[in-house]
Amino acid sequence: MKSTYLTKLTKTVLMITMGMLLSVNAWAQDTKSLSGLEEEVKKALNCSFITTDGVPDNEAYQVLDFILRDSKTFTFNLPYLRKIIISNTVKGEYTENAGQFTGITLPNTRDEKFLDYCLRHEMGHVIDHAKNARESNEWTAARKHVETKSISTYAGTNDQELFAEMVAYRTAKEYGKSLSPLPNDIEKMIDKYLYN
Ligand SMILES: [Zn+2]
Repeated sequence: MKSTYLTKLTKTVLMITMGMLLSVNAWAQDTKSLSGLEEEVKKALNCSFITTDGVPDNEAYQVLDFILRDSKTFTFNLPYLRKIIISNTVKGEYTENAGQFTGITLPNTRDEKFLDYCLRHEMGHVIDHAKNARESNEWTAARKHVETKSISTYAGTNDQELFAEMVAYRTAKEYGKSLSPLPNDIEKMIDKYLYN
């Protein structure tokens, strides 16, 4: 900024400018700790890698900051997750290749309610894969009488999505409040994979 221009500024404008500079400075401090934030998210979700897939650092920071805060509301045991991808997509996605590889893609969104749902749904897929949940006798028994409609429309897609939706449903903050509890044996079956 040129000093000749500065001298023309009123006191008020100077104060606004200083305020802006302070927030730019605060923002610069935030971006500096993006990698530190990534480390914290990795630890919180038992994950090896995070990529931000072309998402600007400040936006990736906001998504990761929310994920970290949100993960503190989880009480279930998180299985091994290989990769989290923050991407400019409209929805979450789960990737599973042969062996141990699991990846979840989370949308670059400011909609925290939706991001919270995506995280819990995609982690449901990871749990299913890591613990072979749908190969258990409890699953087979519960599957026979579960009402997919009472969980969500998407739960009717296939069994893989049903399990993920069940985890998202069971771990929702509204569970047992505005979301009615699952039948006892189904809740027990899901809890076994969440907490054991
Ligand atoms: Zn899914």
